[in-house]
Amino acid sequence: MVKDEDEQYHLFNKNKKWFKANLHTHSTNSDGELSPAEVAARYRQAGYDVLAITDHDFFTQTDDLGSDDFLLIPSAEYHPVNKTNPYGKNHHLVCLNLQESIDNIAEIAPSQLIKEVNGQGGYVIAAHPYWLKQGLDDLLQLDGIKAIEVYNATCEGAAREFSDQLWDTYCTKIAPVATLAVDDCHFHSEREFAKGWVWINAEKLDLGSIMKSIHEGNFYASSGPEIHDVACSLLPPNKIGWRGLEVKVSSSPAVAIAAITLRGGGKVFAENNETITFGSFILSPEIPFFRIEITDSAGEKAWSNPIFPNRMNFDGVDKWL
Ligand SMILES: [Zn+2]
Ligand SMILES: [Zn+2]
Repeated sequence: MVKDEDEQYHLFNKNKKWFKANLHTHSTNSDGELSPAEVAARYRQAGYDVLAITDHDFFTQTDDLGSDDFLLIPSAEYHPVNKTNPYGKNHHLVCLNLQESIDNIAEIAPSQLIKEVNGQGGYVIAAHPYWLKQGLDDLLQLDGIKAIEVYNATCEGAAREFSDQLWDTYCTKIAPVATLAVDDCHFHSEREFAKGWVWINAEKLDLGSIMKSIHEGNFYASSGPEIHDVACSLLPPNKIGWRGLEVKVSSSPAVAIAAITLRGGGKVFAENNETITFGSFILSPEIPFFRIEITDSAGEKAWSNPIFPNRMNFDGVDKWL
């Protein structure tokens, strides 16, 4: 969050740049159809700035595939065993920013794998939990994960592309973590290519800056719409002394803008087949977090990461809790 001179907190830093990223995709190093170089070329041509090639249990070397205007994050999708789920016998953990390969995955507990990746300065994402038929009990094995995929375009083929409810439940009951939209493209078909991505708000296009923004949650997920601004300010006390947190959201044309939280929140709708680009909400400043979700007229969505009111220190008000 960035505080401006008008005592408003903004979700994004307008002095930083925006980089489009797909952080989950496959190549011929596992079950994809295209070589790593061909995969990189496809995303680059499609206007992406950042790509993670995340082959199944294989650390793809991408040192020679990037350039000044196209960044590859060294990554893999690892599959430690999930002993308790008969319908999804392995976890699918997208591990970004690996320094070196991790071997003998079948013998390592998921939490141990996550610890190793975090120890390398990496970032672990629980991939498509709804497609894996997972619940909170499965995610509890994943101590140390930083994010959960909310949308995975490849899982659309099984009608299990959205994991938003499980992500919300994890955030509410365990810990508020970030979220990603990805295409998880294998290039068996073109249908899922470039259908889910994240926008990263970062200083510049290098591995250090991009990973810093990812670790700090300075990105949002989308399958279409854009979130332009989320501005938060504290309202003056009302007659009984209560101070609301005003949240103003600006976006690309949308049919609905929602603020989802533990108490209050809601949805602002467009009317008469028109679209809106602004929605405002009055939330309690005492909620631990809220998130923003945009829906456009094609049904595509954008999802913010959790936003934490108690990290905003307005002048004269240090905290509410
Ligand atoms: Zn997977
Ligand atoms: Zn995958």
